[in-house]
Amino acid sequence: MSPAPHVVVIGAGTLGLFTAVNLVERGAQVTVLEAQSVASGSSGRSVGVVGTQFTHAFDLMLRSHALRQFRDWEARGMRFNRIGYLRLARTAAQMALFEETAALRAAAGFRSTLYRGRDLLQLVPDMDLEGLAGGSFGPDDGFIDPHELCTMLAQHLRDEGGLLRQSCRLEGIVRRTGGYRLETTGEALDCDVVVNAAGAWAPQVAAMFGQTLHVQPERHEAVTILLDRPLGYTMPMVMDLVNGQGTGLNFRHDKPGELIAEIHHVEDAGPEDPDRYNDQCDEASKVHLAELLLERLPDLPGARLGRGWAGLYPTTADHRPFVGPIDPDEPLLVTAAGAGGYGIQLSPVIGQVAADWAVHGAPVSAPGTEALLPTCERNVDRLSVQA
Ligand SMILES: Cc1cc2nc3c(=O)[nH]c(=O)nc-3n(C[C@H](O)[C@H](O)[C@H](O)COP(=O)(O)OP(=O)(O)OC[C@H]3O[C@@H](n4cnc5c(N)ncnc54)[C@H](O)[C@@H]3O)c2cc1C
Repeated sequence: MSPAPHVVVIGAGTLGLFTAVNLVERGAQVTVLEAQSVASGSSGRSVGVVGTQFTHAFDLMLRSHALRQFRDWEARGMRFNRIGYLRLARTAAQMALFEETAALRAAAGFRSTLYRGRDLLQLVPDMDLEGLAGGSFGPDDGFIDPHELCTMLAQHLRDEGGLLRQSCRLEGIVRRTGGYRLETTGEALDCDVVVNAAGAWAPQVAAMFGQTLHVQPERHEAVTILLDRPLGYTMPMVMDLVNGQGTGLNFRHDKPGELIAEIHHVEDAGPEDPDRYNDQCDEASKVHLAELLLERLPDLPGARLGRGWAGLYPTTADHRPFVGPIDPDEPLLVTAAGAGGYGIQLSPVIGQVAADWAVHGAPVSAPGTEALLPTCERNVDRLSVQA
């Protein structure tokens, strides 16, 4: 490979753009190919939450890399709305888990405070505490606008000499010595390395290289809740799901008189076709979501449903992303996909590690992230694992 390899990144969502920016900052020549427009896939449909209230050292290690980059972007003008993140516990065992892992969060550099029973009302005065044991709260967590983030990343890429081709779909590939010729809906282009960051379409891109990638698109819905008057406090991100237990409801403040709520489906549905799924929120889901929300927040002033939408989580069997080559014999094709419901908050570290693989052939800047390689043990059909 030449000293400045030409890397083509497929997809201008958060994963592709963070990969591209990490690459260009290391001196690579970078072209991003995007079939539609920046953030037109899952990234633009996300609710943008960045949270740190996790209980495994590996998940915390990934977020410490990600948060370091988010802080850099904040210094460059990205808005990070630090409204806090409250992860609810329903059982004493879940509270004990939060307690036992508090030191892990602290070691990763994340503040976290435990709230028990009625203490939760200090954070959310309107909350009905029925069935809740408490929660773990990260005061520095919050949300970003993924569209704004992608636009900033794309601009930075261009400023650093990278290219972004929108309305340009990868349609096929030809192998050539030391790299690939990419056939697109525009001009063909030659490159040394390809990064597949095509989100819910990543399996289609992998198939062009004769590879099988088990990223399964899962549909999720979000709705805005309009209030008659602003709450007298900021609603943090509230998540009612720990280790698969809870309603799956989450909600947070978006604007003074507006919340956003989402249901994380606990039960599993089959994979969606990313070109044909229903991208609107179903009426039945809106009713279900409203019921859950009013159980948890019965006294919201004049709450009514606003606009709703649906998007895709690109999921994997073990709910962790794939980063690195699928096939050790094809090291010049790097995958960066499958971030599920965490593809905004993990995108900086996924981009960092994908750039490592593309340029150095190993995850040199984040030791331990070899665990994200799409090995044959991990790259399996999610539904077959659950069967
Ligand atoms: C309702 C909802 C709420 C969410 N909330 C959160 C949250 O709070 N926090 C969080 O961290 N995550 C959240 N997520 C998940 C997050 O949005 C995704 O994990 C993330 O956006 C995936 O990014 P990506 O770059 O992998 O994919 P995408 O954003 O889908 O980007 C892939 C891009 O590849 C392009 N592409 C596909 N095929 C080709 C081709 N052949 N040639 C060229 N381009 C191609 C597509 O057009 C697309 O733009 C949410 C998702 C949804 C749906």
